[in-house]
Amino acid sequence: MLTIDDIILSYKEGVEITLNNEPQMYGLKGEYDSGEIKVIAYLNNNINKKDLCCTIFHELIHARDFILNKLECEFYNPQRNAVQQQGLDLYEEFVENEAIETYNKQPELINFIEEIFILKKL
Ligand SMILES: [Zn+2]
Repeated sequence: MLTIDDIILSYKEGVEITLNNEPQMYGLKGEYDSGEIKVIAYLNNNINKKDLCCTIFHELIHARDFILNKLECEFYNPQRNAVQQQGLDLYEEFVENEAIETYNKQPELINFIEEIFILKKL
């Protein structure tokens, strides 16, 4: 599950969160750009608050995984590392399940995210 410590780590490492209003093809809900270290959520493809929260959690999980891999914290989650090595589809499923679990158990985490990050519009 995504934690407050994960959010703080992402913030310290310079991750930004952007809400994008422009129409997107293919129903893309969000993405994590590891080059620009930016989470982008596409508002038009997220149909309600739950959807948007889960998308932001999902992309922040990608950000956390990327940062922890970069920092070579290879033992932080051996199960996840194994999944990442098995292939993208399985890893995506793993990330999505973690995002949904975070929403179900700790939906208020989005309030902390809103407070700590400056949400910018493109
Ligand atoms: Zn993903």
